[in-house]
Parts: sequence; C-alpha cells; structure tokens
Amino acid sequence: MNNLRAVAEVLLNSKRPLLCGHVMPDGDSLGSVLALGMALQSKGKEVTIVSTDPLPDLYEFLPGIKEVVVGSVPEKNYDLLVVVDCSVPERIGSTITPLLNSDLPVVVIDHHVNDQPFGNYNYVRPSAAATGEIIVDLLEMLEIAINLDLAINLYTAIVTDTGSFRYENTTPETHIKISKLLECGVPVSLLSNLIFGEQPLKSIRLLEAALSNLEVSDCGRIAWISIDRDKIEAIGAEDQHIEGLINYPRKIKGVELAISFRELDENRVKVSFRSKYTVDVNLLAKKFGGGGHIRASGCTTEGSLSEVREAILKEAKEIIRGC
Ligand code: AMP
Ligand code: MN
Ligand code: MN
Repeated sequence: MNNLRAVAEVLLNSKRPLLCGHVMPDGDSLGSVLALGMALQSKGKEVTIVSTDPLPDLYEFLPGIKEVVVGSVPEKNYDLLVVVDCSVPERIGSTITPLLNSDLPVVVIDHHVNDQPFGNYNYVRPSAAATGEIIVDLLEMLEIAINLDLAINLYTAIVTDTGSFRYENTTPETHIKISKLLECGVPVSLLSNLIFGEQPLKSIRLLEAALSNLEVSDCGRIAWISIDRDKIEAIGAEDQHIEGLINYPRKIKGVELAISFRELDENRVKVSFRSKYTVDVNLLAKKFGGGGHIRASGCTTEGSLSEVREAILKEAKEIIRGC
C-alpha cells in the first residue's frame, strides 16, 4: 500500500500522535515534522514531537522548534507513531526505536528509495525532492490552509534537500509547491542567509581540518575527505558542524563521486556519498548497510577509519570505469 489518502485517514483517526524525523536532524526532517505537527494540532490532536539527537542551532528560527522534546520520549498514552523523512528503523533514534516493538501503529512518510518501508502504513515517494513536498500535498488533502509558520517550515524542508533547487531532485512540481509557499510571504533572503549564508566558527575550523585531508584519485573522478575524532574533539565540534563538508570535494571540477569519512569511535565510521551525474550512490551505500538517494546517500560502517576508507574506495574505484 502506498496511498497518501489512507495515511491521511490514519492521521485523522489518531488523537495523541508521537512524531519524529531521523537522527542527526536536517532541514527536511525538522521542517516536515514541525509542519505536520502544526497541521495535526490544528485538527485538535495532542501532538508530541521527539528527536533523540540534539537539534542544530542553525534551525532555531523554525516556527515551533522549541516544542520539540530532545532525548527521551515523554511518557504519554500515544496512539500512533508518525515517522517522517526516515527509511530505516535504526535511524529514528535510540530513544524512539523501542516503540517499534510495542503495539503502537507506525506511519512512515518518506522520499528515500525504499522497497520495504517499516511502518504499518507507509507513504513513500522517491520522486519528491523532500519529504516537505509530500507534506504540502497532505495538507491540501486535509484541507489545511498554509499559513506563514507552516510555509517557513516547508520551505526550509525543500530548500535544504534540494540545495537551493540546484540538485537533480528538483522538479517542476518542486517549484509549483514552492510558489504556493512564497505566496504565504516566506522571507526568502532572510532564510537563505540563516541557512546558507553564515556558519559557526567551529564549522569553518572543521572545514580547514577536512580540506587539509582532501584527497583525489589518480583518475580525478573521486575525491574524499577524512575527519578523525581527535580533530573533532580538539575543535569542540558537534554533528551540526559537519553537515555540508562533503560539498567541498564534490565541487572539484571533474569529480563525479565525493565521499566523506568521519570517525565516530575506534570501530565505527560515518560515511557520506554524493555524486553529480552518473553514479548511483544509493546502491553504493547499500553495499555497506546504508542507503539514501541516487545522488546523496550514507552509511555507518564498522572498522577503523583507514579500514573503512580502504574498503569503500576499492568499491568506488570499481564502479567508476577507468579509475
Ligand atoms: P548524509 O550524508 O548523512 O547527509 O545522508 C545523505 C542521505 O543518505 C540522506 O538522505 C540520509 O537519509 C541517507 N542516509 C545517510 N545515512 C544512512 C544510513 N545509515 N542508512 C540509510 N540512509 C542513510
Ligand atoms: Mn533528511
Ligand atoms: Mn529528506
């Protein structure tokens, strides 16, 4: 079943839904979950939104973000768990995953490539550039008028997942939806500045460290950065400061595949993949237990930084002919 109307019915029938996005929250998971939360509140639901991971300071301008509970799930008599922008149960966060083994029905609303969504009710649309696009349709179905707060959350969801409408996932439908949001008065240049125009000093220090480790394959088609734990700790950086670093190896002329390796601990590495035109990085990440989209994906892999890097680069060089 992949029916948005059926999902809308389930949402309307719930009274006390618990909503969440994914770990290391991004603009799409936060914007989408906040917009959906507001929409359900306007329908008289008692909404709770939880994030296992801390929220990036960057998103503190999002309307309603102060209502998000960070860490443990408050004890309440929930009747539904609604997961947005997350394709795998492991990524909903350690404080929420135990609920998957309870009787609580689960709704998944997502845009990642996924043939086996984990909800009891699922709506997955990989052609959507962001989960925020699906939420725009859902609001229309629920006959909820979009106000400025909803529009800011949804605009942020879509503008972040499309890299300001520059990535391949951007479609005419994306722009049609954005035009509806702009009609509500979204302050575009202010949001552009808040989201893309400024960064904390720690992010720039981390960029400096990452670029000092930048490597490019002999063929010039693969570029990667590595960030070890000592560096992250020395800078005092958190997850939120790492976001976006992968765009630098991706920017190099001639590079098709960009990879970032980030040491989580002695035996675990978070890997991010981005491609430009040809490489399906969803398939590549899947080989290492992860997933995502065709041009942006990730995985968390066991092994030391150098072991993981070696294994992944071997696979990457096999995928890119002549590399
Ligand atoms: P990231 O590189 O973490 O920004 O992730 C890029 C895309 O891949 C996002 O859409 C993520 O949802 C997805 N992704 C990242 N890590 C994983 C994972 N371990 N499993 C499945 N999808 C992932
Ligand atoms: Mn996301
Ligand atoms: Mn997304």
